[in-house]
Amino acid sequence: MPLSDISARIREEEARTGRAPGSTRLIAVSKVQPLDRVIAVLEEGHRLFGENKVQEAAGKWPDLRDRFPGVELHLIGPLQTNKARQAMQLFDAIETIDRPKLARTIARLKDELGACPKLFVQINTGEEEQKAGVMPAEADAFIAECCALGLEIEGLMCIPPVEEEPSLHFALLKKIADRNGITELSMGMSGDFEKAVAQGATFVRVGSAIFGERNYG
Ligand SMILES: *Cc1c(COP(=O)(O)O)cnc(C)c1O
Repeated sequence: MPLSDISARIREEEARTGRAPGSTRLIAVSKVQPLDRVIAVLEEGHRLFGENKVQEAAGKWPDLRDRFPGVELHLIGPLQTNKARQAMQLFDAIETIDRPKLARTIARLKDELGACPKLFVQINTGEEEQKAGVMPAEADAFIAECCALGLEIEGLMCIPPVEEEPSLHFALLKKIADRNGITELSMGMSGDFEKAVAQGATFVRVGSAIFGERNYG
């Protein structure tokens, strides 16, 4: 589906649910996609992208940034502490802060590098064993811990369980954000981004609906 159609659907849902026009930004998730498709979307003028692996992003985005000024890149996949430095230099936002050790590493690197990307805490709203993210009951304490380390948490991010109604998870994420004074919400993917808009997403992360199915070959 053309990117412009996805944007139009976001605008329609904003209008339908009383959201301010343009208050939801579209992250084009370019992981694993062939470079020509990513370039086609850049040539349409889109500049906000998401990648889930540091190594993969490092392989393509420095060149693409040179060719297309104004790119904004979000890390939406798990971050190992030993890749934190590289991630902080490569990304404009890290959406997957999810444990004290990572927060401490980023706080130390922030002082050393004198700069820090925007930071989001990932919440495991479905309390799934295998999934990354802070448990909802631990979210407030973890966010406070990040603040105490000198980190500004600008947003929350979640990936709802596949089998459950996503709107309930989006509503939970918003509730946690509201009570912690956090304004950015990254939620919603190809299958449910309109529901996320309705629940107050400020970022939706859409991959396959824009680029086609990922071929992991
Ligand atoms: C891959 C991915 C997406 C995009 O998924 P689609 O279903 O292709 O839109 C969104 N968020 C995260 C965290 C992802 O890893």
